[in-house]
Amino acid sequence: MYTLKFDENVCRTCPTGDCLVKCQYLHLDKETAVAEMVKIGQGADSFVLNDCVTCYACEEYCRRGNHPFYLITERRQEKGILTAPRAITRQWINIGEPQGKYRLGEVKERVLSFGFMPEFLGWIKGRLFEDVMPSYIFGQEFFCNVVYIHFADTAVIKERLPQVVDNFRKLGVKEVIFLHDECYGAFTQLAPAFGIDVPFQSIHYYEYLYHRLQELKDLIRPLNIRVAYQRPCSSRLSSDQHHFFADIMDLIGVDLVAREYQDENALCCGGILSMNYGYDLAHDVQKRNIDDMTAHGAQFCVFNCPACQSTLGPLVAKQGIKPIHMIHLCRKAIGEM
Ligand code: SF4
Ligand code: SF4
Repeated sequence: MYTLKFDENVCRTCPTGDCLVKCQYLHLDKETAVAEMVKIGQGADSFVLNDCVTCYACEEYCRRGNHPFYLITERRQEKGILTAPRAITRQWINIGEPQGKYRLGEVKERVLSFGFMPEFLGWIKGRLFEDVMPSYIFGQEFFCNVVYIHFADTAVIKERLPQVVDNFRKLGVKEVIFLHDECYGAFTQLAPAFGIDVPFQSIHYYEYLYHRLQELKDLIRPLNIRVAYQRPCSSRLSSDQHHFFADIMDLIGVDLVAREYQDENALCCGGILSMNYGYDLAHDVQKRNIDDMTAHGAQFCVFNCPACQSTLGPLVAKQGIKPIHMIHLCRKAIGEM
């Protein structure tokens, strides 16, 4: 049985309570934040278990490695506190169930993971990827299942993730480049938090793109555009990789606007919020986010997660800001789009 590494004694001596003090949806002072985390650690009831909107950010805010959001998720599941109607949760869990319909390219020791994002089947082409393609994997058998922390279900992750690790092991891969940062976070941050061993090296695609663009430096023509970045919830599980976004913007001659809702202060795209917490909250968050992009003169909104792009892309476009995925922006910089 896999067990979450959480120690409430680490919270007792916490000088900041940053997990819940910085939370953009709960607004707590330090004393309350620390007291609630200790209570949750002990298995007691807490209003946090009802009010958290699953943005993942406290996994980044806690600098003491104590996994506050995973704890909240586990306690919700134990107490039967659902974050979505049961039918919606069940539908999502069914979507990720292995069906034997996965796709494999010519898999080598170094492989690209498309996870369970069908967009990548059409997007991954051109010189950026020619040193790895056609070595790729796609499908539920390689799906990290992390999305279920939005649905207060760590049990399904603990059941499926070791099987997914085993599927990678059977392929004999040594290095996996993850094109969805939720998968990267699953194997580098969530798996160790629950004591799940991972037998390969994980590479975030931002790091891969940064080095690949340096190899293709002669092809880069500075784009000279102003962009805002829609940082996804999953990026909170790989905050050590976040700097690569700004590094890549520098490399391709893009001006990343210094707006309020970026970096640690990023806001959710609103997709999960509208499904689980109602349209009022989702619309408020989306409006503040897009107004902030507009106020800072962004011409493009760059997306990391295809799901964020399908939720927020049409809304930013209505405000005259062009939505674009990171992969397409980088291909544009080397003259491929
Ligand atoms: S989870 Fe982390 S940030 Fe929150 S109270 Fe505990 S140690 Fe502090
Ligand atoms: S996941 Fe987000 S909303 Fe929930 S407690 Fe953590 S920071 Fe707050």
